[in-house]
Amino acid sequence: MEINSQITPIHSPMIDIGVNLSNPRLMKRLEELMTKALEANVQGMILTGTDPKNSLETLEFMQGLEQTFSGLNFWSTAGVHPHDAQQSLSQDFIHGTWLQQVKYCHGQSEQVIAVGECGLDYERNYSSPSEQRQVFEEQLKLAVELQKPLFLHQRGAQDDFISMLKGYHSDLPKRNKALAAVVHCFTDDLSTLERLLDLGCYIGITGWIADERRAENLRQAVTQLPLNRVLIETDAPYLLPRTLRPKPKNGLNQPAYLPHIAEQLAFYMQINVETLKKAALTNTQTLFEIELG
Ligand SMILES: [Zn+2]
Repeated sequence: MEINSQITPIHSPMIDIGVNLSNPRLMKRLEELMTKALEANVQGMILTGTDPKNSLETLEFMQGLEQTFSGLNFWSTAGVHPHDAQQSLSQDFIHGTWLQQVKYCHGQSEQVIAVGECGLDYERNYSSPSEQRQVFEEQLKLAVELQKPLFLHQRGAQDDFISMLKGYHSDLPKRNKALAAVVHCFTDDLSTLERLLDLGCYIGITGWIADERRAENLRQAVTQLPLNRVLIETDAPYLLPRTLRPKPKNGLNQPAYLPHIAEQLAFYMQINVETLKKAALTNTQTLFEIELG
């Protein structure tokens, strides 16, 4: 009997669009995380930069990873999370102001592919709403200047968030008739989803979908999420999917759990999981203009 040397993988490859890999709890077990990601056919990761210091560290870290783990692809974002707006405004960094340092990161590598994570979070208000808006607005301008996609965060600030995005809508880059922007870790209800889709945003879904305590609105919303706007992410080490069995003892989320999130999401979107994975991969590659190597 002849052995077929071209075995097609059963599972579509995936890219995890939101990994906080510079988190010390993940750093400690890097080798194991990467092995498991490859086993799960998660072939790429976008590492989230959350403040000026962290964005620089994440960039440097990403460049080292590429050399260490062959078979995996890495990209990163550089920007300032709304929680870190106040801190960023009040100090200087190695490469100048917070904005100069974020710009510096974007100039260092073509693999820094998005401005963010940035946006508004009025639920915790670690920074005041006005500081958040100031720092968000500068990053909207930066995305226009660099013509790069936005990696967005929004909690409890729908109206301000949408009106600020609208203000820059015509100047922000577009991909495939959509806005080059992903609202990452979307957890809101159908009416917010519809407003974001109308603006042309891509929508990132995490393991939140698997949380029976708080995903009711989200589960209803994703039934109306079009296949050409969906992205999938772990937001590791946070948001471990509650449906994962066996439950990891350390409670840490990791890129290898991305296929599980895809299964959960496919169930609530009422579509085939492989169809979803393929669509998410295509959308990720289109939005960020990247390719799995
Ligand atoms: Zn976030």
